[in-house]
Amino acid sequence: MSKAPISKALALITGGTGGIGRAIAAALPLDAYDVIAAARHAPQQPLPPGVAFRACDVSDAAEVRALFAGITSDFGRLDALVCAAGIAGTNSLGARDDDTLWRAIVATNLDGTYHCCKAALPLLPDGSGRIVTIASTLALFGVPDQTAYTAAKHGVLGFTRALALALAPRRIPVNAVCPGWVRTDMAERRFRELGIDASIAAKGTPTGRITEPGEVAGVVRHLLSAAGGDTTGRAIVIDGGAISYV
Ligand code: NAP
Repeated sequence: MSKAPISKALALITGGTGGIGRAIAAALPLDAYDVIAAARHAPQQPLPPGVAFRACDVSDAAEVRALFAGITSDFGRLDALVCAAGIAGTNSLGARDDDTLWRAIVATNLDGTYHCCKAALPLLPDGSGRIVTIASTLALFGVPDQTAYTAAKHGVLGFTRALALALAPRRIPVNAVCPGWVRTDMAERRFRELGIDASIAAKGTPTGRITEPGEVAGVVRHLLSAAGGDTTGRAIVIDGGAISYV
């Protein structure tokens, strides 16, 4: 079957059905991008207009290879990769913790980012290709009962920095966005665990509020644009000024 001619760029957003990924998908201009949102489960709510869904567990290298094989045969290109798939969880290394949660958190956040970036490299065009990873402020400091998530997000940032240097000769910028609290289901789950709500969490930020998903999406949109072309290897923190020393 011959490929349909396309002129739009193609953006793949892993975790594109979640709070932050969905906002990124919605923020990309439809006249400039075809957008694919990938996640394990089909979205419960309709995706933003023009956004297509593909099922993929990013922790599984074979599933990621199949996702990229499908993109190659259907579109023949990939211009932007945003790695937003992630899970969090509490593991404070108590005697009752087994290794399952540690493995799942590292496999999703860190291995998943690695699998997707590796698969994207042959497709991304020199000069205009872009990669954005969604790390966290927990790539910059630790939280005692979030050992796996902290380790995985530190790994995502380290990987991002190394990949940025590896791809600099191809002029493909690679950056990590590091949000603090963002109003999504993931944050709501953590609030419930801590017995707090967003207003309590907001007391930890100088701006007195938590971040909206669209505010993360706006930064990602900039990094994917031509104007973001010389920003690479950076950790871009979006947290209302909470960690002012980085
Ligand atoms: P969310 O609403 O829970 O969405 C998570 C997304 O990741 C969903 O689309 C989920 O879909 C997908 N996902 C999870 N495991 C996956 C896997 N193995 N393979 C493919 N997709 C998978 O969370 P969010 O707040 O939008 O988080 C997005 C990213 O931002 C994550 O990397 C998170 O660590 C990071 N982050 C969030 C916050 C925050 O406060 N919300 C702060 C800092 C960083 P399925 O479950 O269907 O797979």
